[in-house]
Amino acid sequence: MSDPQPEEKNIFQRIIDREIPADIVYETERVLAFRDIQPQAPTHILVVPKEPIASLEEVTAQHASLLGELLVAAAAIARQEGLEQGYRLVVNCGRHGGQEIPHLHVHLLGGRSLTWPPG
Ligand code: 5GP
Repeated sequence: MSDPQPEEKNIFQRIIDREIPADIVYETERVLAFRDIQPQAPTHILVVPKEPIASLEEVTAQHASLLGELLVAAAAIARQEGLEQGYRLVVNCGRHGGQEIPHLHVHLLGGRSLTWPPG
């Protein structure tokens, strides 16, 4: 019997590890942000922790400062992108939340008037 294969890296981890290209707009020691490949608004950026956290379901109080950094990064990027008229942050969690990539990420959407509620 063959050895079990190591779990395959998800696409965001491969972007973080610079194995595949992305349009990176912001980076700190613990956070990376890049443009979504299928933008749903004129500005659509994904803000991700470099640490491999699959989703909000996994986070504990120990992640509080990192989660804060994600929001601080999103606000800085929104200023950088000139979104003075406002923007929206979205975190999809799990199947019902519509999460497709199992690596925690914050969507930053802006550049148009967004409707509410989401689908
Ligand atoms: P989720 O549904 O998990 O909240 O969002 C995943 C997002 O990742 C989607 O908006 C999708 O367009 C984006 N995405 C999927 N694959 C890639 C990729 O290879 N590169 C980039 N930049 N974005 C991706």
